[in-house]
Amino acid sequence: MRCSNLADAFRAAERWLLPGSCLLCGEYAGATDPLACTLCQNRWRPLPEPRCRRCGHPLSPVSPACRICPGWPDGFERARSAVWLEGTAREAVHHLKYGGWWRLAEPMAARMAAQLEGADHLLVPIPLSPRRRRLRGYNQAEALARALASVTGSRVEAAALVRRRETGTQTALTPEARMANVAGAFGVTGAIPSRRVLLVDDVFTTGATLAAAALTLLEAGASAVGAVTFARARPPLS
Ligand SMILES: [Zn+2]
Ligand SMILES: [Zn+2]
Repeated sequence: MRCSNLADAFRAAERWLLPGSCLLCGEYAGATDPLACTLCQNRWRPLPEPRCRRCGHPLSPVSPACRICPGWPDGFERARSAVWLEGTAREAVHHLKYGGWWRLAEPMAARMAAQLEGADHLLVPIPLSPRRRRLRGYNQAEALARALASVTGSRVEAAALVRRRETGTQTALTPEARMANVAGAFGVTGAIPSRRVLLVDDVFTTGATLAAAALTLLEAGASAVGAVTFARARPPLS
């Protein structure tokens, strides 16, 4: 049996085993994806224009200066998020992260792929700490990176970055305190090829974690770093 036939067989078995209702709304999903129905996916809302050209955060038409990315390291050129973290998108993030429903990464990555410019990226997921990864069994950012790679044809380098310590929640911190909180949180396992790296994560909350990971990769030899996440937290940060 060829690999694709085997994958189809597994998928058919999964469909048969699942109750046939959407994980996000509980409605019968019929012949569509049994994990996230088309209606729920259509409710995932993209971020509105105008947006910052660098970090992709929506800008106020009244005061169009971005408050998210001015402190980012040179070389961290572009970050994008597919949808707002709300409603069924928040549910999808939660099920992917805590529920073990890793195949939800497929429809999520399809939305992320639309945010990319060019395909020649090395995809690097934001790592969990070894302890958290052991407890959870897998890294949701890696699941998204692998699903994205299957759409774009890019290569995934899941072991390139390591997390030296957890950084906790940082939404209540000032931008300067966030950067200090994540400084030194990441390391590399070897030389990073001198090419464009695309960081992949599930949620962009303050951008500080992505900026710290980007700085680590740039210092290790990456020529430029971008980032893409499925969701972005709102409201705009102070
Ligand atoms: Zn649904
Ligand atoms: Zn910005």
